[in-house]
Amino acid sequence: MGQRRMRGLRIPHWLLRLLFTGTLREKPCSHRNLIQVTTPTAQVCQDCIASGDTWPELRMCMLCGYVGCCDQAKNQHARKHFQETGHPLIRSIEPNADWMWCYVDEALLAAPRAL
Ligand SMILES: [Zn+2]
Ligand SMILES: [Zn+2]
Ligand SMILES: [Zn+2]
Repeated sequence: MGQRRMRGLRIPHWLLRLLFTGTLREKPCSHRNLIQVTTPTAQVCQDCIASGDTWPELRMCMLCGYVGCCDQAKNQHARKHFQETGHPLIRSIEPNADWMWCYVDEALLAAPRAL
């Protein structure tokens, strides 16, 4: 029995918010004005490639364009990037994904525009 992946499906924001934060309540984010990069700069996690690892999904830092693997990945490079740089906003760069996440406010937000 293989695991069925939901890759490429557009998941409603309310559902993501519930999964990520445990509540449907929308949280404010004060970091939107820091956004510099909205379109993907890479389609791989360079840090995983360097160590020979793989990843399920990719996230991109919206302040500097760093692309890293998601929190479900073994290495969690996107989260590590936040911990090292303090850059709070990432977006999913998976097909059809149109959400971003603020690590500081723990807020799920609509990404500025579709990929
Ligand atoms: Zn924020
Ligand atoms: Zn990685
Ligand atoms: Zn960054």
